[in-house]
Amino acid sequence: MKKITPEKKQAIQEKLLHWFEENQRDLPWREHYEPYAVWISEIMLQQTQVKTALPYFHRWMKELPTVKDVAESSEDKILKLWEGLGYYSRARNLQKAAKVIMEKHDGVFPEDYDSILALPGIGKYTAAAISSIAFEKDEALVDGNVIRVLARLMGFKENTRLPENEKKVWELAEALLPKGEARNFNQALMEFGALMCTPKAPKCMECPVQKNCSAYEKNEVEQIPNRGPKKEHVKLDIALGIIKKSNKIFIQKRPSTGLMGGLWEFPGGKIEAKEKPEEALKREIKEEVGIEIKNIKKLKIINHAYTKFKVKLHCYEADFENGEVELKAATDGKWVELNDLNEYPFPAANVQLIADLIKNGGA
Ligand code: SF4
Repeated sequence: MKKITPEKKQAIQEKLLHWFEENQRDLPWREHYEPYAVWISEIMLQQTQVKTALPYFHRWMKELPTVKDVAESSEDKILKLWEGLGYYSRARNLQKAAKVIMEKHDGVFPEDYDSILALPGIGKYTAAAISSIAFEKDEALVDGNVIRVLARLMGFKENTRLPENEKKVWELAEALLPKGEARNFNQALMEFGALMCTPKAPKCMECPVQKNCSAYEKNEVEQIPNRGPKKEHVKLDIALGIIKKSNKIFIQKRPSTGLMGGLWEFPGGKIEAKEKPEEALKREIKEEVGIEIKNIKKLKIINHAYTKFKVKLHCYEADFENGEVELKAATDGKWVELNDLNEYPFPAANVQLIADLIKNGGA
């Protein structure tokens, strides 16, 4: 990447700061820049858009207004508040970090960058975001929005997913940071990426830094940023069972680490090649839960896309036939009343199914 000239640097700093002053969204964590609120917002906004995160943020702050509340909450409550946001390790790490803050920092969010970076679930980006936004420290940051804005401004066409190229973007962000203005400048870069210099159809015609933008000048906006070859989604077919016994439904809890860790789910599993969904369901329930089922009836198919794979959930209802529950992978299992299902955190793909079940008074 070419070195930025002092004139271009000054123009970008001034114009973006001015643009932010005029156009920033009215967001709750911007009211007082209280470290706890900034931290929660930053974790929620990883991989999630502001408009999706906002209702979650409001609910979280109402239910868990302090670090102490997070540290002392049950894991189920934390995950329920996170239900639908995805990347559940973020919520589990929030609680781990809250416990560290209570134990090591007397319940006060630490101010120095290294102590923030040492907290569970906080990487280089989030530490810089909290340091600069909550504590006004001169820490530069780079996220997906910033990569796009800076790569376009500099006409940087290399694959920014490669670590050596991402490093160059970080170096540029550091060079570009106006000292003493990190809170507003970092937010300006991110907000500008979210509202103006968007992935598709950026608003170049209204853009205050259009004259300083190399991608615009060379008509290369659509080719930048270069994020490398597209990754194919892995496709998974899963059979899932609403297993009933005396008006109760069986649910189980996933191990606390790994994908959707700590969430509750209906039992089931992957449909193997050449296997019928009903056969897969019977086999999985026997293998994973240790019980036999009967009267298997199809309910619906739910398609759900995660970041790296697409799931086709073949949903069935069935009756318990015999056997003792003996869990192989799940860490807990319960027979629960239909109306109590809403008290448990479930993966997003199951939420609509539960709503349908409750609406219809059972499967
Ligand atoms: Fe982004 Fe277009 Fe502005 Fe360049 S001119 S910074 S591509 S919005």
